[in-house]
Amino acid sequence: MPRIPQSAPYLRISRYRESVDAAIAGVIGSKQYILGAAVDAFEQAFAGYLGVRHCVGVGNGTEALTLSLRALGICAGDEVITVALTFAGTAQAIASCGAIPRFVDVDASTRCMDPDQVEAAITNRTTAIMPVHLFGQPADMQRLCAIAEQHELAMIEDCAQAHGATTGGRKLGSYGHVSAFSFYPTKNLGCVGDGGAVVTDDPRIAERVKSLRNYGWEGADRISRHIAGNSRLDELQAAILSALLVELDSGNSERRAIAADYRRLLADSGLGLPPDDPGAVYHQFAVNCPERDSLQQYLATREGVDTAVHYCPPLHWHPAFSGFGQPRLPVTEGLSKNLLSLPIQPEVAAGATERITRALNRGVAQCLGS
Ligand SMILES: *Cc1c(COP(=O)(O)O)cnc(C)c1O
Repeated sequence: MPRIPQSAPYLRISRYRESVDAAIAGVIGSKQYILGAAVDAFEQAFAGYLGVRHCVGVGNGTEALTLSLRALGICAGDEVITVALTFAGTAQAIASCGAIPRFVDVDASTRCMDPDQVEAAITNRTTAIMPVHLFGQPADMQRLCAIAEQHELAMIEDCAQAHGATTGGRKLGSYGHVSAFSFYPTKNLGCVGDGGAVVTDDPRIAERVKSLRNYGWEGADRISRHIAGNSRLDELQAAILSALLVELDSGNSERRAIAADYRRLLADSGLGLPPDDPGAVYHQFAVNCPERDSLQQYLATREGVDTAVHYCPPLHWHPAFSGFGQPRLPVTEGLSKNLLSLPIQPEVAAGATERITRALNRGVAQCLGS
């Protein structure tokens, strides 16, 4: 039996190879390699897809978050409420602005920011809330936006795992004053390298991000008006992203179908499953199981099925963030110990769910001795 990888971005690129090759050839022939027609076209297409006014392509998802925060004016001493059950980039972006990440616990079902924990974390230095739509599952935006509005806080969505996800009839990324996407190769919309985007309805924020991604310049006079580096989306990645954006909805549908298979095949497994949310896009399908580490080991060595752990340890236990207090986050800490991400990328998992779930059920019997 061939090994099943947890994810394999090259298989998606291979699947759409013709349009990716055409996109690359188009950029090479265009003779303009930085901030040209391909970046413009992708920015317009992605903003249109999300139903927002502006999209600004940047170097990667972490920079998308950092520039979102900077464009909002968040700076040293400000506190930003976020979660610890996430990728490091979420909190790194906050800390790199000099701001303080205030980690709150997540909801056990959605695994996203628990609105009940937010109000107690608000102080007179809190300026923003940054929820993460973990694994493509929408956070409770209705309640989180209401809290932000009531306390006059900025809302920044970390949409790095939520391309195309919806809640309340709208795409994620359209709720925040500003929202950030990553196009890292494994994401639901991923390029052949690094890429990211900031989206917003506010033209001033969009203009600021455009300046901050490009040496603090504004307009054509090449005068730096802000301290800023270089964080542009490049033309090649933008052209590839436009080619893959047209496949995003069908890819997300395939992920939903695989998730439905998993749900059916694991109904009697005793494992905790993600919520059955029709707006979710299943960047990951993470099951909740005791003895997670031995189950992962069993699947890899005895069944040839690779899985992944997201995220362990949680960010409040990383040395870089230890100076920001040591909150007790019991739900986060429990999930961090027990979540195991199954293969869900369509090019890997379609047609393999029976083999994967049979292996998983055998593993549960082995590792939990049932
Ligand atoms: C991938 C990811 C990021 C950062 O994206 P990069 O492009 O790798 O910098 C940020 N937040 C979350 C939740 C992510 O999954």
